[in-house]
Amino acid sequence: MAKVHIKVGDTVYIRTGKDRAKTGEVTKVLTSTGRVVVKGVNVVKKHQKPNNQNQAGGIVEKEAPIAAANCMLVCDSCKKPVKIGYKFNEAGDKVRICKACGAEIETVSHAAKA
Ligand SMILES: [Zn+2]
Repeated sequence: MAKVHIKVGDTVYIRTGKDRAKTGEVTKVLTSTGRVVVKGVNVVKKHQKPNNQNQAGGIVEKEAPIAAANCMLVCDSCKKPVKIGYKFNEAGDKVRICKACGAEIETVSHAAKA
């Protein structure tokens, strides 16, 4: 399984491809392929024939997954695409941190209670 450092709900910056320099919210993470789906990014048009769900048919727009490696997390504190790291805070919880400003992004896992 590919390691994906991005989670659903993260805002990411796209580093490469036709949507380079766009930002968007992650709506899906596909850990098996190391890809993510980002709202409004890599939108593809699919021609759909009429079926039971969609009587009219026509063109459906849908976001296609992109490689998570091409995304960078946008830090809430410094509002920039940043690299993330991990550390343990004073309570012993593992947290994701912004490597640029050091802000704690979220708690990854809580310290095991002895
Ligand atoms: Zn930051």
